[in-house]
Amino acid sequence: MRVLLILAHTNTKVTSLHELIYNYLHPSFTLEQLAAITPKQHQVELVDMRYQKVDFEWNGNIIGISCRTVSANTAYRVADEFRRRGKTVVLGGYHPSAMPEEAKQHADSVVIGEAELTWPQLLKDFENGKLKPFYRQNRPVDPELIPSPKRMSKKFPFFSVASIQATRGCPFKCSFCPIHKVQGYKYRTRPIDKVIDEIQSIPSRRLFFVDNSLTIDLEYTKMLFKKMKGLDKRFNCYANINVLGKDDELLRLASDAGCELWIVGFETINQKTIDSIGKTTNVVKEYAKAVKKIHDYGMMIQGLFVFGFDYDTPDIFDRTLEAIYKWELDKAGFAILTPFPGTSLFRKFEKEGRIITRDWSKYNLKNVVFKPKNMSEQMLFDGTNRLLNKFYSFPNMLRRIFRDERLDLQRLINRSLQEISSKQLYKILGW
Ligand code: SF4
Repeated sequence: MRVLLILAHTNTKVTSLHELIYNYLHPSFTLEQLAAITPKQHQVELVDMRYQKVDFEWNGNIIGISCRTVSANTAYRVADEFRRRGKTVVLGGYHPSAMPEEAKQHADSVVIGEAELTWPQLLKDFENGKLKPFYRQNRPVDPELIPSPKRMSKKFPFFSVASIQATRGCPFKCSFCPIHKVQGYKYRTRPIDKVIDEIQSIPSRRLFFVDNSLTIDLEYTKMLFKKMKGLDKRFNCYANINVLGKDDELLRLASDAGCELWIVGFETINQKTIDSIGKTTNVVKEYAKAVKKIHDYGMMIQGLFVFGFDYDTPDIFDRTLEAIYKWELDKAGFAILTPFPGTSLFRKFEKEGRIITRDWSKYNLKNVVFKPKNMSEQMLFDGTNRLLNKFYSFPNMLRRIFRDERLDLQRLINRSLQEISSKQLYKILGW
């Protein structure tokens, strides 16, 4: 069969820069994974809507579209058009997993949760004329069965950033986090030797671990890092702050393995908020120590912050910026609280009548889609943007680069790229 896999994206303006970034330098891990789990007898074609247009004249057998909440409307539009032309369409990914009944209105079938087992079964059923409306993965997929993604970047394999996944799931229950609808709570680790083989097969020096956190099974991560030492890779990965502040051995091994940047959900500087959202890994008064430790081992840290929690008052923006400057964070991401469907936060806001819009295209972490408690919607929007612009002002970017005591040519290039990619690139790409 001919199978078309589409990554839905809301991009309206596609330029050659989009193509350079997404096709050659940062290809879609979702599409790479879907291609890898599609049985070999099928001919797979991929469309990454971040830089490619959908050809509605496509004349194959079945179309699979993956989407998140923000791209759900786009996915539904594409699905409707293909179905109008008589094609069979399947929807999957975070949003259809959280809202399967809604997705079903636009698809012949919906894949709910992880797809390693259900997608091949669905294709078999379709071939036999027995397609079911829903395919639900009820139990977490055995990590042994998670294959390496089918790498797509052909043109500049040495310069692309290769996404890699060593673990899946997260045992924590942060109220705003949508990952559980696909990955579940059970933390699973892929066999280390398979991950190492995969890393060794990647021509590029740069890796990005897409794992929710590499600080949940420490024995596993330390072994992974030990085995990565000497492979001459450079990578970024996610982690929880509680571990980074304490575990010197982990930091030493990470640095030896080539870790350049830890990406950490600080979420907020207000401990009351941390407690209310169930982020049990975070203790605000320990943030500073953790940042210092990471710097001591020669690595960078990016803090992710969210605004609009019920304990946030209008002074939260300036207080957060002060703290970030004091801790000397290398990078920061600022998002407006977004109650993604399927989360306990969404259910709470819905119960309280605080959801303003169900236009999913607005669920992009940049719009206010609910009524905040202690400030107006405009204040929340303006405050978050003001913070972003201040943190990534040109003088501040330069200051961060040149305060690095170990700055050499390579670090200068890396740091400059990290700074640019953080904001300017987002702007150019229209995120
Ligand atoms: S620790 Fe991170 S991945 Fe896990 S539930 Fe919380 S926000 Fe989600």
